[in-house]
Amino acid sequence: MKLERSEKLFEASKKLMPGGVNSPVRAFSSVGMNPPFMKKGQGAFLFDEDGNQYIDYVASWGPLILGHCHPEVVKNLKEVVETGTSFGAPTELESKVAQLVIDSIPSIEMIRMVNSGTEATMTALRLARGYTGRSKIVKFSGNYHGHSDALLIKAGSGALTHGVPSSPGVTEETAKNTITAQFNSIKNIEAIFQEAGEEIAAVIIEPIAGNMGVVPMTNQFAQRLRELTNQYGSLLIFDEVMTGFRVAFEGAQSLYNIQPDLTCFGKIIGGGLPVGAFGGRKEIMEYLSPLGPVYQAGTLSGNPLAMMAGYTTLKILKENPEIYKALEEKAIKLEAGLKEKVKAIGVGASFNRVGSMLCMFFTDVEVTDFETASTSDTEKYGVFFREMLAQGIYLAPSQFEATFISAAHTDEMIQQTIDAAGHALKKVKELD
Ligand SMILES: *Cc1c(COP(=O)(O)O)cnc(C)c1O
Repeated sequence: MKLERSEKLFEASKKLMPGGVNSPVRAFSSVGMNPPFMKKGQGAFLFDEDGNQYIDYVASWGPLILGHCHPEVVKNLKEVVETGTSFGAPTELESKVAQLVIDSIPSIEMIRMVNSGTEATMTALRLARGYTGRSKIVKFSGNYHGHSDALLIKAGSGALTHGVPSSPGVTEETAKNTITAQFNSIKNIEAIFQEAGEEIAAVIIEPIAGNMGVVPMTNQFAQRLRELTNQYGSLLIFDEVMTGFRVAFEGAQSLYNIQPDLTCFGKIIGGGLPVGAFGGRKEIMEYLSPLGPVYQAGTLSGNPLAMMAGYTTLKILKENPEIYKALEEKAIKLEAGLKEKVKAIGVGASFNRVGSMLCMFFTDVEVTDFETASTSDTEKYGVFFREMLAQGIYLAPSQFEATFISAAHTDEMIQQTIDAAGHALKKVKELD
């Protein structure tokens, strides 16, 4: 595999943008190589500037559940672009997207569109604080909710209810109001509520974490979380930016049979264009401006292009529920094939999968939280990743990300991926 032109483009981009990229993981720093520059996507394939072709398991980090350039999405986008890209005024299309989501997901009575997942979680927290009149929020170790200040906080040592900034530029004052809890630990969240329950505005969680590899909540933990937030009058916010319309059309909340007070969306809801959204109970959503006192706004929010890509994608998914069954069957096939190779070659690995999101961790430990995910051997992942890329398989350039199947992946592609993994895992084995 040659990457000459990509190398040149990267050298140049590094002089123009910090790290040469507009989002850090794209720089490939954790897999020990420079990134290919992409030129084109088609179905399940990506093509780079050097003419290499890859089977894409990143799907732009989740949005492209129908694959690149789905014909209907492209056609509708072309049509709408001819009639104006943004008006900063209400359109019928926004209501169509809202109606589709509200009709499908029982916990969503009202929704607001924004431009990214980060904006969705940031605003959902402001709304929760405004609605409850409380200051503290709880998040979980290893969960990612975008990059707003209140969420770039990690657990402090010692005090249970006192976080510390995970990035310079986030103040101690901000960190004081974010409590970091252990994912899947009932004991830990009970202790936090016992100590500070009356001050907690909201608990925000990725119900199926996808930003420390794939790690689902246990059912017991999920139920206890709903009980505790109800008991203390704190809002439960599900961050379904990744899982919404992915693990099921109705999201992770349908799998756990839990109604969160607020839900955040992103990724698939924008069909590959920049969209985020948050929604939930009407009485809470009505606290937002212009109806209520909590402020939020957006120049390009709900613009016709983004709404059309999202609407078309959601409509196809909703009208063809068999897509989810097919996605899961392919994910099961991939997981089973990888497990077989891992066993035959004798590499320590642990798997988590929900629907069409999966992750192979290079560890012998069952992964249930951030601590166990962190036992993964990232050096091994680097070797695996590079060997897969060289064989035309584009995985996420980090151990701690999900592998996504799209509707454009075929059984043949899955088999090709399993065969490639056989070769790659032999190289990984040489590290033992
Ligand atoms: C991707 C992601 C976000 C952030 O969304 P952006 O659109 O990148 O700002 C938030 N939460 C979760 C769970 C995500 O996967």
